[in-house]
Amino acid sequence: MTAIHSRGKVYFVGAGPGDPGLITLRGVQCLQRADLVLHDYLVNPAVLEHAAAHAEVVNLGHHHTPLEQRQEEINARTIAAARTGKCVVRLKGGDPDVFGRCAEEVEAVRAAGVPLEIVPGVTAALAAAGYAEIPVTHARLASAVALIAGHQRKGKGESEMDYARLADFPGTLIFYMGLASAAQWSEALMARGKSPRTPVAIVRRCSWPDQQTIRCTLGTVAAEVARRQLRPPAAIVVGEVVACAPEVSWFAARPLFGTRVLVTRPRDEARDLCERLSSLGAEVLAQPAIAIADPPNWAPLDAALTRLGETDWLVFSSANGVRYFLGRLFQTGGDLRRLGGVRLAAIGPGTAEELARHHLRADLVPPEYRAESLAESLSAEAAGRRFLLVRASRGREVLADTLSAAGASVEQVVAYSSSDVDRPEPQVASALAAGQIDFIAVTSSSIARSLVRLFGEHLRRSKLVSISPITSGVLRDLGYPPTVEAAEYTMQGLVTALLEYCCQGECRRPT
Ligand code: SAH
Repeated sequence: MTAIHSRGKVYFVGAGPGDPGLITLRGVQCLQRADLVLHDYLVNPAVLEHAAAHAEVVNLGHHHTPLEQRQEEINARTIAAARTGKCVVRLKGGDPDVFGRCAEEVEAVRAAGVPLEIVPGVTAALAAAGYAEIPVTHARLASAVALIAGHQRKGKGESEMDYARLADFPGTLIFYMGLASAAQWSEALMARGKSPRTPVAIVRRCSWPDQQTIRCTLGTVAAEVARRQLRPPAAIVVGEVVACAPEVSWFAARPLFGTRVLVTRPRDEARDLCERLSSLGAEVLAQPAIAIADPPNWAPLDAALTRLGETDWLVFSSANGVRYFLGRLFQTGGDLRRLGGVRLAAIGPGTAEELARHHLRADLVPPEYRAESLAESLSAEAAGRRFLLVRASRGREVLADTLSAAGASVEQVVAYSSSDVDRPEPQVASALAAGQIDFIAVTSSSIARSLVRLFGEHLRRSKLVSISPITSGVLRDLGYPPTVEAAEYTMQGLVTALLEYCCQGECRRPT
């Protein structure tokens, strides 16, 4: 692959149909290097996360101003930026060359003498093939595919679609922008002899978590679109191959497909849980309920770091504790040798994994991943020993109290601060108020409290999934009992409990 080093260049990049995993590696590279990203409204915002922090990202939005005028503005902006040496990515939904008006833009950039590159993408028709399991070509049924614009611009001297030839086309027809014009093109095809019984699949929002597939025939497609008031985007597949598709594709058969889940962990820590849930088919929304930051004062931690030689046990109650504690150790010039004589305890596997990331093995992880269990496991050897508990600016006292009672000398040190997020994301708040969020993952006691402050009564419109009995207790005390509780107090445990709950009963939103 050629390296992307040239400044002053325009990349026309296909973002794919929706699923952020469907952009190409080349496309990601381009985004990582871009100074300016101009994208269409169909592009999934998750794809834009590949853009570097310094990049200016511009949503070109819906088509309000006349197309020609807008196009000129876009071209002018693209060319001007490239001429000042910027790396410009013109990001388009699907493939840039399939009904993406790429040709006009490429022509303008070429005419301006600005270097360019085109990075193909997964176009909607092929996304429908993969994600709705419609084999658009088929050894017996279809040796050709036609991609057709269902909606054509009026005037401008563009030729009328030749429906007689399309009706005779020996293969699969796939209509883009074909919802509003379904009556016209379906009738035109039938008038020229195509059978009204030809199978049709309308694949709406293909590869997005709310993908819909509606089966009908050429004779009924217009009525179906009208009756269901279907909105774009949809790819409409017409041909015998549609009959080969299973009723429920692999994509729609994933266990959490059709459910919407709110993840409430701090932004930097939410990725793993979000990925687990979305790979199971859930649509994941994010509302960080707490924010993690530096401690109000480093002095106590710095002092504790100098006394590690006198410490018997270093106890971590969270992965954040590990991150901040070790981060500070390294930042102040120390390294892992400072922990040479210290034994390490981690409250659960997530915390132990964070230690392992720094080449440290936890000497103790309690059988149940909570403070009580950790305290009990440590109590046997607590008497006369020195413990350093690494903690957040707020948290529970049970560990310190139990160890002190067992005769240990206990020091607690705040390694990071945890505070409530005080403003809900508007999109999340309105989805919740409208009852459009099926589950909320409540992954700690402080998150539970913060959520109640953020959303109050609206939390009742959703089912709460609690990570542990402690968190459930807090929710219950606040008047919002959880519907599901994890048996193992980890992110995976929470996902497993949610899956079990969904597989037992009807948790899907009606589509
Ligand atoms: N360049 C895009 C097409 C842009 S035209 C591509 O290659 O896919 C816009 C049309 O594309 C929509 O009206 C719809 O017909 C189709 N489309 C885009 N994304 C889609 C999706 N996720 N599911 C179904 N159709 C989609």
